[in-house]
Amino acid sequence: MATQRYGLFGWPVKHSVSPQMQEAGFRAAGIDASYELIEVHPDELSERLAWVKAEGFRGWNTTVPHKPAMMAAADQVEPTAQAAGSVNTVINRDGFLEAHSTDGYGLAMSIRESFDLEISGGAFLFWGAGGAARATSVYFAGRGAAAITIVNRTLSKAEDLARVIRGVAPACRVRVYSPAAAAVKEVLGGVDVVVQATSIGLHADDPIAIPADLLIPGLRIVDMIYRPTRLLRRGAEAGCRVVDGKGMLLHQGVRSFQLWTGLAEPPVEAMRTALHRALEEN
Ligand code: NDP
Repeated sequence: MATQRYGLFGWPVKHSVSPQMQEAGFRAAGIDASYELIEVHPDELSERLAWVKAEGFRGWNTTVPHKPAMMAAADQVEPTAQAAGSVNTVINRDGFLEAHSTDGYGLAMSIRESFDLEISGGAFLFWGAGGAARATSVYFAGRGAAAITIVNRTLSKAEDLARVIRGVAPACRVRVYSPAAAAVKEVLGGVDVVVQATSIGLHADDPIAIPADLLIPGLRIVDMIYRPTRLLRRGAEAGCRVVDGKGMLLHQGVRSFQLWTGLAEPPVEAMRTALHRALEEN
């Protein structure tokens, strides 16, 4: 058995490519470690948490539906993750659980790599107000984004998120709209990046997440979904600069790896190669 154990809590979680990505990172860094899928029903979460602690797991990731419960179970939550109400990474320091969110870092790195843009001073539009939009937009606010627009089907969720963002970054200009609002098209023309953060597109027959008539040439779009989507295809056809969620997935994992191992320079390229290979094979 590996000297160090890590894992991913989820339900379901079989589809995840995180084990291939993280284990490639450990191998490249010369660390004897395993990364295991911990598929657990919400009713059994506390039992399995006691088990990973007893087994001496050094840390783990968590995905749906366990993020809120994992945050509640943590002894300490990093302040931005606390404000966003979302965690995806836990460090186990001899039984003391420290929780973080690495999604915002992952998205920021993907935007830097794809568009050569920094978060500070930028204007971003998040299409969606679920867990991933919360984690990333609050991180962006904390990193000095100048303007954040939230567009969401359920307006009350967008408004709630806007309140959180204003609390974290009073200087950030925050606006909320429902997807059908006429003003959305004009706002889109003034933002640096549009982030598609709804779950529309996860299934091949899903409709386009953002109406095609809003896809103006030159618009930079990141679709958090890491498989081909209608939005990515139609956006490219319309002359937008489109990027899928693979870069975000990679860098959120790299940041988790860094938090667990303390390595200043994690083996990003080994993890990227393994991630891309695993997604192709899946
Ligand atoms: P949530 O379930 O928390 O949020 C879902 C969001 O999608 C909400 O804004 C919801 O709107 C919206 N939505 C869902 N169905 C519809 C619909 N039919 N019409 C309009 N809006 C809809 O999911 P997450 O935030 O956890 O995840 C969102 C996406 O991000 C997923 O596809 C996930 O795979 C991806 N993701 C990618 C990551 C990466 O590393 N690349 C990391 C994390 C997530 P409403 O509020 O109105 O219900």
